[in-house]
Amino acid sequence: MAEYDYDVLIIGAGPGGYVAAIRAAQLGLKVACADGRETLGGTCLNVGCIPSKALLHGSEKFAEAVDGTFAKYGIKTGPVTLDLAAMQQQKLDSVKQLTGGIEFLFKKNKVTWLKGYAAFEDAHTVTVAGAKVTARDVVIATGSSVTPLPGVTVDNDAGVVVDSTGALALSQVPEHLVVIGGGVIGLELGSVWRRLGAKVTVVEFLDQLLPGMDGDVRKEAAKIFKKQGMELKLSTKVTGVAVKGKTATLTVEPSAGGAAETLTADCVLVSIGRRPNVEGLGLEKIGLEVNKRGQIETGHDFRTSVPGVWAIGDVIPGPMLAHKAEDEGVAVAEFIAGQTGIVNHNVIPSVVYTFPEIAGVGLTEEVAREKGEVKVSKFPMLANSRAKTNHEPDGFVKVIADAKTERVLGVWCIASVAGSMIAEAALALEFGATAEDIAYTSHAHPTHAEALKEAAMGIGGKPIHI
Ligand code: FAD
Ligand code: NAD
Repeated sequence: MAEYDYDVLIIGAGPGGYVAAIRAAQLGLKVACADGRETLGGTCLNVGCIPSKALLHGSEKFAEAVDGTFAKYGIKTGPVTLDLAAMQQQKLDSVKQLTGGIEFLFKKNKVTWLKGYAAFEDAHTVTVAGAKVTARDVVIATGSSVTPLPGVTVDNDAGVVVDSTGALALSQVPEHLVVIGGGVIGLELGSVWRRLGAKVTVVEFLDQLLPGMDGDVRKEAAKIFKKQGMELKLSTKVTGVAVKGKTATLTVEPSAGGAAETLTADCVLVSIGRRPNVEGLGLEKIGLEVNKRGQIETGHDFRTSVPGVWAIGDVIPGPMLAHKAEDEGVAVAEFIAGQTGIVNHNVIPSVVYTFPEIAGVGLTEEVAREKGEVKVSKFPMLANSRAKTNHEPDGFVKVIADAKTERVLGVWCIASVAGSMIAEAALALEFGATAEDIAYTSHAHPTHAEALKEAAMGIGGKPIHI
């Protein structure tokens, strides 16, 4: 009889866990994957990336129909009305198809799906829904959950003070949505409800939106969101939220201290970050400690300090992004199978799926300047023929390169399709490209991607179209 029930047991079936499970099975290992949710795919597929993009896409179409965008192309519409229930249903259909797709892939790859929350008994034994399961290697891929704001109670069912899960499921368009936190979730979901008709106020503690992104991008993003009608209260903190019936009253004051004021809203979204899911895992039973931020530390091979226990995704340090979790999922399976897994944590693109999209990879200008001399070149989307033709003038592409070698250190862009454009920049950074390499690569015309070529041309010489 085998010593263990499985070669590998993965706890969590999000983009980290399900990908690790599939890759481990592809490599010939006997694999089980436990998850407490009813469906596979974790936060990303169930209440994150996928449903948010379904609503972002749907709401963008609605906004185009009502805000005069169609009219720019000579398309006349009659009265346009919103069927929110139908928009929510197409979101649920996408989620169902994609979570079902993972179930299919598990069957195809003979991964056993264990339904239930898992907790360690020892490093090789885990209890899932009351049953003991043993494995030679255990991967913790439990992801993250919303960071609570002290003194503020989220109640997604009541729909007044909600987190991202509640904000994705509203059955009515709020009259006034106050978003606490001008990060990725606040801006994406704030954009959804603004487009569908809500007045949106974003309260951000810092003096700019989108911490961690390039300074120019953060400033330009704020201008664009303001132009779109979002009210931004920067350098402002929320000190309390009182709910009476269907109305919330928020007390806010300058972050640095000062006179308080109140805001009233029928919906408040708390989006001040996410924290790792480690509670209830029984980490104390295996002697695995978490760091100050509640994350599980690992080596570059995703081994924790406990032999046989590995960790990936949102539960470990690094950006909380689905593709980072997926890449780590592939790598951890390869390490467990005795191969060498590779994740280049210096080249993880990030994208905000607003309109226009905001994307970046590599170093920001601020960080690059701290490290040495740099050259910076910016090309406006206004001068890109395709963006201009499509009536999408906002944004720019910015290339940051080493001053001596002209090797590309970072690329940041705001453009309608920045999320797709950034893939080329990530490849360039991965291959150690210089700006010249990008400038001398033929780019199809007319495409938004030509703006990256032109920005790269600006590092060594001059762009053509400006
Ligand atoms: P998760 O996806 O969180 O999966 C972990 C799973 O483990 C969950 O299903 C959980 O139920 C389960 N679990 C937890 N504890 C246990 C336990 N003890 N036993 C069994 N199961 C357990 N990222 C992007 O890259 N692009 C986006 O567009 C994007 N949009 C987002 C939108 C929203 C609204 C949110 C909230 C997040 C978004 N993210 C996005 C972030 C992305 O969802 C996460 O980075 C990603 O899901 C992390 O993957 P993971 O596998 O580490 O964890
Ligand atoms: P975030 O870290 O992106 O933004 C949180 C914001 O809240 C920050 O700007 C922070 O300064 C602000 N803040 C913190 N405390 C505050 C307070 N008391 N009052 C006012 N502002 C406060 O976090 P998020 O938007 O909640 O997203 C969580 C994670 O989910 C992110 O790490 C992100 O990577 C991931 N995510 C990614 C995508 C994407 O890739 N498109 C989409 C959604 C979520």
